[in-house]
Amino acid sequence: MERLIEGYHQFRTSVFPNERETFARLASGQQPHTMFLTCADSRVMPELMLSAKPGEIFVYRNVGNIVPPYGQQVSGVVAAIEYAVKVLKVGHIVICGHSDCGAMKALQRPEALTELPSVRAWLKHAELAHYVYAEHRERSVEDKLRALTEENVIAQLEHLRTLPAVAAALANGALRIHGWIYDIEHGEITAYDGKKRSFRPLEQDGVQPEATPDARFPASAAA
Ligand SMILES: [Zn+2]
Repeated sequence: MERLIEGYHQFRTSVFPNERETFARLASGQQPHTMFLTCADSRVMPELMLSAKPGEIFVYRNVGNIVPPYGQQVSGVVAAIEYAVKVLKVGHIVICGHSDCGAMKALQRPEALTELPSVRAWLKHAELAHYVYAEHRERSVEDKLRALTEENVIAQLEHLRTLPAVAAALANGALRIHGWIYDIEHGEITAYDGKKRSFRPLEQDGVQPEATPDARFPASAAA
């Protein structure tokens, strides 16, 4: 804790003075262009890995970067998405999973959750991924975990589309959704390509892969 308080003083003395105008401008409102939904894992640091500035990304985190399907329960994440889309009018939502995710490992070994009833109940929202993953034929432990992490991001994108605010914004081309996975060891991000149904490295230039399926939302996929 001392290290964090020391860090705060460092922020006050060497970071804040250089960004004073930015913070003064942000004090009266935010206009983030992207909602970034990721795992609570301490090793995933959205602002750091995207070099994002204050006010740029609307971050929401929970265990396993999960979005419960619409209507199942009112959750903080669903309320935050609704607010981001309807009030902040973000143009993009990114669901970002990561390597070595404890939630994904727990999904592989449900017996590890016997003394964690709340986590077990929460991870029910990742069941779709688990079922699809069961059809995979990966061999190594790493490949199995990677496959489940990818399927979970794809499943949460499916859930995301069930939210009325998201479905409406996708249909009129105001929103694009993206599925990413952050590799902690290599500091690399791969993005889900909905057309090719696979993850590929996030390119520095050019068109980024979109998770939106063109069959269902042709207008937004072509935008
Ligand atoms: Zn995680």
